[in-house]
Amino acid sequence: MSIRIDPNKCIGCGKCCEVCPGSLIVKNEENKSDIKYPRDCWGCTSCLKECQAGAIRYYLGADMGGNGSYLYTKKDRHFLHWHIVKENTEEIITINQLESNNY
Ligand code: SF4
Ligand code: SF4
Repeated sequence: MSIRIDPNKCIGCGKCCEVCPGSLIVKNEENKSDIKYPRDCWGCTSCLKECQAGAIRYYLGADMGGNGSYLYTKKDRHFLHWHIVKENTEEIITINQLESNNY
């Protein structure tokens, strides 16, 4: 499991920096976010949930999704779309965030 941020997609909103509970993400001189301490990331996905630009990839690792598989998100109002990419396939799981804490 690892997080990577695409500087070409990052719009510099800073939300990932604000929500990371370990303060692992910082802005660089180009106002793009970088994960500074990737080894300390425990994969909580808070940064993915906040990124409106789909700039953050969460690599699942060989034991979860297979080598090279990853997640990224897209937001549409209160709907969060989880994109799961593996080899040449992409699946989407949509969560209504207004109801996601209902049990
Ligand atoms: S939340 Fe996404 S777009 Fe905003 S600074 Fe972080 S990586 Fe960039
Ligand atoms: S997954 Fe969680 S711990 Fe890791 S960088 Fe994102 S917000 Fe921080």
